[in-house]
Amino acid sequence: MTQLEAAKQGKITDEMAAVAAGEGVSRETVLAEVASGRMVIPRNPAHAGCRAVGVGRAVKTKINANLGRSPTNSGEADELRKLECALGHGADFVMDLSVGGDIAAIRKRMLDASPAPLGTVPVYETLSLLDGDVPSMAPEFLIGVIRRQAEEGVDFMTLHAGLLSAHVDKAMNRRMGIVSRGGSIMAEWMKKNGRENPLYERWDEVMDILAAHDVTVSLGDGLRPGCLADASDAAQFAELDVLGELVDRCRRRGVQVMVEGPGHIPFNEIRMNMERETEVCRGAPFYVLGPVVTDIAPGYDHIVASIGATAAATYGASLLCYVTPAEHLGLPDLEEVRQGVVAFKIAAHAGDVARGLPGARDPDDRMSAARAAFDWDRQFECAIDPDGARRRWLRTRPADEGECHDDDHCSMCGKAFCAVRTSRRIKNLLDGKE
Ligand code: SF4
Repeated sequence: MTQLEAAKQGKITDEMAAVAAGEGVSRETVLAEVASGRMVIPRNPAHAGCRAVGVGRAVKTKINANLGRSPTNSGEADELRKLECALGHGADFVMDLSVGGDIAAIRKRMLDASPAPLGTVPVYETLSLLDGDVPSMAPEFLIGVIRRQAEEGVDFMTLHAGLLSAHVDKAMNRRMGIVSRGGSIMAEWMKKNGRENPLYERWDEVMDILAAHDVTVSLGDGLRPGCLADASDAAQFAELDVLGELVDRCRRRGVQVMVEGPGHIPFNEIRMNMERETEVCRGAPFYVLGPVVTDIAPGYDHIVASIGATAAATYGASLLCYVTPAEHLGLPDLEEVRQGVVAFKIAAHAGDVARGLPGARDPDDRMSAARAAFDWDRQFECAIDPDGARRRWLRTRPADEGECHDDDHCSMCGKAFCAVRTSRRIKNLLDGKE
């Protein structure tokens, strides 16, 4: 029985109870959210040791880190180090997006090593097994890969089932065309073979597999805009309408479903995009990449995208896919994975504060109290990246003050000009203590 099927029957599963305990919300809230489809708990029972993580607006915004080798870079050992780094810095979900090589072996090692739910894009393995020959991809073969990955324990899968042949024509008028890897594969297959999307045509069969293993489907946005000029266009929203139809079919079948979203979007269009998805997909958790709010900052796209992600989390997204400084330039290395995760932990938290999620501001209040008290150790405990904050603080502490952690100033202003010290003196003055 899937989490959705259990919830529809009013059963609180161990996973729902774990989500409730971890989030500080009631079990009844989690039950109602899962039953409505507004929350998913991607967890395949075959993934041993996998924790239950809720994705939805009733709980904290989550982040995903994309990992996986490319045909030209990295390998199993590198990707496992990145996995450890991503999890160590707080990634809630990870995806293995490996292409080329022995993908099944990397996925197995990642599943064994990851207590976080793991996602894949099955068409990547399918095409890798066919040496990149898109037109030769038989629908049965693709569905077979989906089945095998579900049996192995993959917790959620991106399936580009809403991209139809007619949408491809619309996208060809764009400046950047199709920038989704999976979307471009499905589009080429349809046009080369003169057929409709096989995942859409055989969706009932696919849902049977997903339901049998409680794999959550993440409906891929094959036509996510790849530049600001293509944002919010007819192609993007035509696909979104089909995703809304697929959401309904998944819910009726008892399959947990979330929806993927853009992409490159000007900041002022993010709210509209979040609200439109919420309406069209009837509150299905929205899983967004970025959004990237300007096209002109390669090398800094983790910052660019975390700006968009903060707005997305504020206005409707529930899961943020990180973007690293390597975006548009190459496969991220270990340090770039760390930077991407930290940037998106910040975005998710800032979004939760902005939307008024109960308790979201508590860590900020603990931090400000520690700052006012010059309690440096507590400040680092409250920090999203405690080690990074401590390292930076130590780097410019006055050398003659040793390892003392009672400094009542820092190197930014120095003791005489420290505004927090001055403010303290003013308060003491007004309280009659000086
Ligand atoms: S020295 Fe300046 S930056 Fe440092 S704690 Fe005081 S006011 Fe803040």
